[in-house]
Amino acid sequence: MVNLKKRGIGENEFCPCCGRDVESIFHSIISCEVAKRVWDNWDVHFVENWQRLYDVSDVALKILEKGTTRGLEVFFGVAWSIWYNRNLIVFESTCRLLCQIWGFANRFPHEHRRAKLALFKDQVVENIRWTPSPPRVFKVNVDGATSVDGRNSSVGAIIRDSCGAVTAACCKYLQGQFSVAEVEAIAVEAGILLARDLKIP
Ligand SMILES: [Zn+2]
Repeated sequence: MVNLKKRGIGENEFCPCCGRDVESIFHSIISCEVAKRVWDNWDVHFVENWQRLYDVSDVALKILEKGTTRGLEVFFGVAWSIWYNRNLIVFESTCRLLCQIWGFANRFPHEHRRAKLALFKDQVVENIRWTPSPPRVFKVNVDGATSVDGRNSSVGAIIRDSCGAVTAACCKYLQGQFSVAEVEAIAVEAGILLARDLKIP
């Protein structure tokens, strides 16, 4: 059990949440009356047994032993949320409602996964690089743009040689709004016509 005062956190040795017991990490996250009421939201049968343990890591091991890795994820999410609420009280003289502490913790893994997915997508986009064609071969890249608000679609095409130098390029503003598939097809056509006009093999 670690006394937070020894760590230089907080002037008062009593728990800022309940004000009754000496503060420790185990007390703040597991045995404080405020924490207990948050954990009451978790519908698992072994929650009561936690109070007989002495360390947060022992609780985590117990969950891993009797529950699942998803349970462990929930545990750390809620533990972090309880601790965050404790810091709000100490440093900002405010706090969250019990249901907010629980709700925030349960949204956190989902948001964390979503953020990771977004990061992964960015990395995928970053990894897509233009590569030059083999010697004496030209490369035609095309793209199209359309909108959902009735504005006209447009297409563009660019031809580069094997060194990456631009040989020709064109863009076309279409009369009307086309679907994504139509715009892509028109863009490909524009690229082929540009290459044909320039007699590029
Ligand atoms: Zn307390």
